[in-house]
Amino acid sequence: MFGRVPKKSDNTKFYEVLGVPKSASQDELKKAYKKAAIKNHPDKGGDPEKFKELAHAYEVLSDPEKREIYDQYGEDALKEGMGGGGSSHNPFDIFESFFGGGAFGGGGSSRGRRQKRGEDVVHALKVSLEELYNGTTKKLSLSRNAICSKCKGKGSKSGASSSCYGCQGTGMKITTRQIGLGMIQQMQHVCPECRGSGEMISDRDRCPQCKGNKVTQEKKVLEVHIEKGMRDGQKITFEGQADEAPDTITGDIVFVLEQKKHPKFDRRFGDDLYVDHNLSLTEALCGFQFALTHLDGRQLLIKSNPGEVVKPGQYKAINDEGMPHHQRPFMKGKLVIQFHVIFPESGVFSPEQCRKIESVLPMRPSKHLTDMELDDCEETTLHDVSADEVKRRKEQRQHRHREAYDEDDDDDESAPRVQCAQQ
Ligand SMILES: [Zn+2]
Ligand SMILES: [Zn+2]
Repeated sequence: MFGRVPKKSDNTKFYEVLGVPKSASQDELKKAYKKAAIKNHPDKGGDPEKFKELAHAYEVLSDPEKREIYDQYGEDALKEGMGGGGSSHNPFDIFESFFGGGAFGGGGSSRGRRQKRGEDVVHALKVSLEELYNGTTKKLSLSRNAICSKCKGKGSKSGASSSCYGCQGTGMKITTRQIGLGMIQQMQHVCPECRGSGEMISDRDRCPQCKGNKVTQEKKVLEVHIEKGMRDGQKITFEGQADEAPDTITGDIVFVLEQKKHPKFDRRFGDDLYVDHNLSLTEALCGFQFALTHLDGRQLLIKSNPGEVVKPGQYKAINDEGMPHHQRPFMKGKLVIQFHVIFPESGVFSPEQCRKIESVLPMRPSKHLTDMELDDCEETTLHDVSADEVKRRKEQRQHRHREAYDEDDDDDESAPRVQCAQQ
């Protein structure tokens, strides 16, 4: 149910959510829900929380019994009355049950249900992180089928067309063939004469502009507004802008944002921005300052506090310098910097320099081994192992493990790894 628990006697919230007075009729509730649900549908880039809230409010108020309980005692009473868990349905189911299928068909109910709905055209739209940070408008030129302006989609000059002789106007043809003794197979297929339209236009009557096709190619320029804070995968929909066809509700053109990988910043966990920064060992120990160019070109001065030591891999964050929140762009996430410390190469310090460094660094944790202790030890040699090699060995092991236990493992990466570790 709801994360928020309202105040005890709160029995107005659901009306406020739908934006109707407490005296609203069922019809008014329906209208208010319909309008708000379309506007806030997540498929249209709306806020999923708001959409859920609307569905829940409508679910309660549209049920006279629940509405009465709510009016008298508030939301808590409903939760108790419904045996704790409540009966909240999937908000998408409520939406679907309300509108039937093509909810976004440009008013499917008012234009008659018999019309079929044209297909949506989906395009991927590549955008940079800068564009998502700052917002931008892209002009895109597309060509599409439009109802012929000359014949208004009739295909003929006179507007008259006769039934197709091949199919008697049904658009379909049935052929039969004998496949065995007394057995007949019936097959139905689209009439080749009229290509399923069921009508025929004589050559002389054919519309000169569309040549009887009823549609013509049209160039169209769409302005796609990419708002601040939009996300990878978010959809921008142009309702009813896809290919037009006679007796068809035009589908939508849908742009799905695809964020290009940024060389420096990485967006994570919603609106946080992650950036890596390398520090020299001296900077890590003795302090640093540098300028970081942000996605809008601003220079941020990043500096350590006096006496601060930064450890390899350490994270630090600046509030309100992450990505803007979509629809509330004045709110921003964090800018998180992960520091990497670049250590000097082997052999750069002379023994003399080592003594100097050691004199200022913290004491070694253990004392020197005595000669006697040294005599008890075996000599060993250390050699380098690259991180790549460690990774390769781990993968080999996992691969062998998977072959040995080739069950229907459900992409649960962690489970086999734990088993590996226990072997
Ligand atoms: Zn025409
Ligand atoms: Zn036909």
